[in-house]
Amino acid sequence: MPASLHARIRGAGPTGALAALALAQAGWRVSLHDPLAPEALQARERAYAFTHSSRELLQRLGLWAELRPSLVPFRRLHLRDVAAECDVRFEPADLGQAEAVGWIGSHRPLMALLLRRLGQHPAVRLELGGKAPAACANHGDDANDADLLVAADGPESPTRQALGIGQWSHPYRQACLTVQVEMRGCADDEAWELLRPEGPFAVLPLGERRFQLVWSAPAARCRQLEALDAPAFLDRLAGALPDRLQPDALLTPPRAFPVALQLARRLHRGRTVLVGESAHRCHPVGGQGLNLCWRDVAVLQRLAERATRGTLSPRRIGAAYGRRRWPDLLLTLLTTDLLVRIFSNRHRWMLPLRQLALACLARIDGSRALALRAMTQGPCRLHQPLAAWGDGDQQLSPAPALSGHGALSAPSARPE
Ligand SMILES: Cc1cc2nc3c(=O)[nH]c(=O)nc-3n(C[C@H](O)[C@H](O)[C@H](O)COP(=O)(O)OP(=O)(O)OC[C@H]3O[C@@H](n4cnc5c(N)ncnc54)[C@H](O)[C@@H]3O)c2cc1C
Repeated sequence: MPASLHARIRGAGPTGALAALALAQAGWRVSLHDPLAPEALQARERAYAFTHSSRELLQRLGLWAELRPSLVPFRRLHLRDVAAECDVRFEPADLGQAEAVGWIGSHRPLMALLLRRLGQHPAVRLELGGKAPAACANHGDDANDADLLVAADGPESPTRQALGIGQWSHPYRQACLTVQVEMRGCADDEAWELLRPEGPFAVLPLGERRFQLVWSAPAARCRQLEALDAPAFLDRLAGALPDRLQPDALLTPPRAFPVALQLARRLHRGRTVLVGESAHRCHPVGGQGLNLCWRDVAVLQRLAERATRGTLSPRRIGAAYGRRRWPDLLLTLLTTDLLVRIFSNRHRWMLPLRQLALACLARIDGSRALALRAMTQGPCRLHQPLAAWGDGDQQLSPAPALSGHGALSAPSARPE
């Protein structure tokens, strides 16, 4: 009986952890290493906006039903160009039969679920909170025991650097400030994307009048805002929000971080593939970041399933992965960059064009549906209908049963 395929994953952030589950469910043995211990991996004060592409993957992996109670759906998304004074409202009807436009989820319950499922999976070995084991210490291709090395080690990716893969990088003048607040005047199922001249500003519902704010502005202004005491910060915040949104209290301290457009020049070398922010990073406008990372995982999983079935050589996974990921990555990064360039200003000659574009979006149902589909499924899947959206999971075609790390009871042919 052929041995099962083995993947080593470096980095157990949301991308690496999900990739580990995805590969294990595709019938692979997986070793997942991160220098952070489980508690530190869960400790970030962040909330993510999940799109339908992420919901589909979570359903395929059997995670959605358990995660769903901790997510807050938003059923209205207000897009407002503040300088051009135009509004567009997106609703689930724009997507056909959808429960919500998207969902907001906090980092901790997400990571708690991923780590729990990883701990329960017999094909997964967790190496968390310590030095890299010997086979991982070299970041090149010499981890001889692995058929596939997956670098999910974040934007500074030591693996990418050790492999000598360069990247295109454009740091924005804008930085991004995240904070959670209690607020009146906004329904618990409403989200906002305010396109302000100083940068985009997202208001994301967390339930019970709590909201996560993602406030982009020139870096110096973000640092000033971060240093303010709570009453002064709330005062500035009220000035930046539409009149009907009334912030009452700060729930977390504001934190500023730099934003950049980054794209690795290659997505693989030899047996190593780059996934998530080790490969790409974009401006937070439109909440694309983590969803784009997870679309890497979705593609990798399909290729891993083919390798398990014996219809793709594991040696060819890297090249096949790169070919499939470039279009989505390029289009998404280009779109987010254009949104920032076009809307973060008050150029007089731009305002009429912006008004025209948003008026078309507001009045033409088809254009709104197209824009929302591009945002929620990715720009390369516009032609595909939204997959079923029920609250349950759609289990994958069963992966070969594993009786322990390294033991595979169902045959999986390994191609020559
Ligand atoms: C300050 C900040 C705030 C943010 N806030 C938001 C937000 O509010 N909403 C949102 O949607 N997105 C937010 N983002 C972006 C979001 O966090 C990323 O999109 C997401 O974390 C990407 O996941 P990842 O798993 O690819 O990378 P990461 O989350 O960066 O995970 C990389 C992992 O690799 C590990 N690692 C590093 N070196 C090694 C090594 N040598 N070997 C093994 N493992 C290694 C790290 O410990 C880490 O666990 C924020 C980002 C930052 C920096």
